[in-house]
Order: sequence, then structure tokens, then C-alpha cells
Amino acid sequence: MRVLVTGGAGFIGSAYVRALLEGTLPGSEGVRVTVLDAFGYAGRRDNLPAAAEHPDRLEVVAGDVCDGALLAEVLPGHDAVVHFAAESHVDRSLHDPAAFVRSNVLGTQTLVDACRAAGTGRFVHVSTDEVYGSTDEGRWTEDSPLLPNSPYAASKAASDLVVRAAVRTHGLDASTTRCSNNYGPRQHVEKLVPHFTTRLLQGRTVPVYGDGGNVREWLHVSDHCRALQLVLLGGRAGRVYNVGGGQEATNLDLTGRLLDLCGAGPHLVRHVADRLGHDRRYALDDRRIRTELGWEPLVDFATGLADVVAWYREHTAWWAGPAAA
Ligand code: NAD
Repeated sequence: MRVLVTGGAGFIGSAYVRALLEGTLPGSEGVRVTVLDAFGYAGRRDNLPAAAEHPDRLEVVAGDVCDGALLAEVLPGHDAVVHFAAESHVDRSLHDPAAFVRSNVLGTQTLVDACRAAGTGRFVHVSTDEVYGSTDEGRWTEDSPLLPNSPYAASKAASDLVVRAAVRTHGLDASTTRCSNNYGPRQHVEKLVPHFTTRLLQGRTVPVYGDGGNVREWLHVSDHCRALQLVLLGGRAGRVYNVGGGQEATNLDLTGRLLDLCGAGPHLVRHVADRLGHDRRYALDDRRIRTELGWEPLVDFATGLADVVAWYREHTAWWAGPAAA
């Protein structure tokens, strides 16, 4: 199988590519991978193994998913696309929403058009729980309404609808996943877990939005990657799969865990003005992917978080310097 992975130099995309090449995902033996990434601020070549480590199995193309001509050149010969490429940081979307509409919506439409033209067999669209909005109680199923609140979430919801329309109108063999918050190695330091971890490791304060009572579900990136692979191999066209994991924590709970793991005291917590439109709680009902595809999370939150803090502690060269926030 030959797979094109868009956004494959970012946090989750690169974890997926490495797992494919290492053969740790179901059905990944001998899979050949092409990474297409714009290599903006979030995409890093050093997130990926050297092509020489996987002769004939890894190709890396620098390019934009909005570039239809490039896609027409690159796509033919691939059996599947896993589409990660997106602007991904909510805070940035508050200040520059148009960049999110461009990459996330126009990029997805351009990719879908190119897949149709190239006759690409299978398409997995990587989306997020944030498209559902915010809920104080209960859990969202895949049929819950899309009620996004941030420009990031709105652009992702629009991209989900672009994919849905391509399935309905043109019979594209595409499935969409909506995953909860991921944590793991190689996540950009602008995101909560690495931002707080790297600051605490330097003895610096961490900014908690508002009262810190916002609830998120946390999933280790390796569990997300396995879910994506199961959807790629066995997911149904037009079907959405929630990928939650069930590990809920408030931002204050999470901050407390990170303080402990970094050996830091509570005096380093600084409450700051809340994020505009900050969603209070996300919670997914993920019974569909568990029952239909046999997925379940394997990484326990406490162990996974400790491993991730250890990774940042041991890889200061990856995040220190200009990238440190
Ligand atoms: P990331 O920002 O680390 O990676 C995104 C990658 O996409 C980067 O390498 C970037 O260079 C690339 N990219 C952006 N715009 C592009 C364009 N126009 N053309 C080509 N490449 C482009 O983000 P991530 O956390 O790895 O997220 C990957 C995907 O997973 C996104 O679609 C995101 O919405 C989704 N997701 C993320 C999470 C999470 O917790 N991080 C949770 C659920 C879903």
C-alpha cells in the first residue's frame, strides 16, 4: 500500500508516519509513505526519520495542500490519503481566522478534488471533537450537531462537511475521525502540555486560563494513530468515528499533574484572563469505533503523561532556543 500523509511533519502526522514505518500499526508492513507538508512553523523535518533509514519507503514533499497542480503531480500511484494538514492552534485562530479557512477548508476541498481526479482509493479525514462545541453534561455521539465556537473549530467543521459532500455527491471512499486532545512527544510548544512542561522544567510560571475548570479528554498520540489506521483499513465510507478515550481532566487537574512530574510547586501557577469563547467541556461517546473496529486506548494517562514529561526533559534541543515559549 502507498499512502500520502498530508501534514506528516507535524505532531500527530509525524507520529503516524513513524509508526507506519516502524511497523507498529496494524497492516503497516511494507507500506510506502509520502509526506506532503508546507513546513510552516509547525512542520519539522526532524520530526521524521531520515529517508535513508527507510530506503524506498519514505518520500517527503514540501508543498501546500491548496496547490492543486502539485497534488495532481504527487497523488497518482497512491492507494490512500490520510489528511492531517491543518492550522491547528485555537489561540492563533482568534487572530488570523482566514489562514485557518484557507488551509483547513480550501485545502481539504483541493485535496478531495485531486483525489477524485487521481482515483485515490481511500481517504481518512482527521478532525476534532471541537467541532461539536461545548457541553456541560453527557457525551457527543457522531450524530450530535456541529456547533463550533472558535474559528479553528469552525474551519474544521467546514472541512468535515466538504468531505461529507464529496462522499455523497461523488462517492469518495472517505471516513472522518473526531478525536479528543492529544498529548505526546514532538508537540509544538504553543500547545498546553508542552508549553507548561517546558516552562516548568525551566522553573518558569504557567498561565492557566480563567478558573482552570475547563474539561478536556486526553488521549496519547499513539492511541490516536492506531485509531486512524483502523479507520483507514476498516472504516466505512461516509462514516464519522469519534475517538475519545474517556480520560477527562480539568486544566487545573492537568496542571497539578505536570507540576508534580516536573518537581515544581503551585506558586508557579498564574491565572490569566480567559481565552475568548473558551469551550467549557468536551466529551465524546466513542462506542462506535470500539464496537465496529475494536479500538480501545492502551496508554494509561498517568503513565503516558510521565513518559511525555520525560521526553521533553531529555530533548531540550528539540524545544529550547527560538521555539521555546
Ligand atoms: P500540527 O500543527 O502539529 O501539524 C499540522 C501540520 O500540517 C504541520 O506540519 C503543518 O506544517 C501542516 N500544514 C498546515 N497547513 C498546511 C498546508 N496548507 N499545506 C500543507 N501542510 C500544512 O497539528 P497536529 O496537532 O499534529 O494536528 C494534526 C491534525 O489533527 C489536524 O488536522 C488537527 O485538526 C487534528 N487534531 C489534533 C488534535 C490535537 O490534540 N493536537 C486533536 C484532534 C484532531
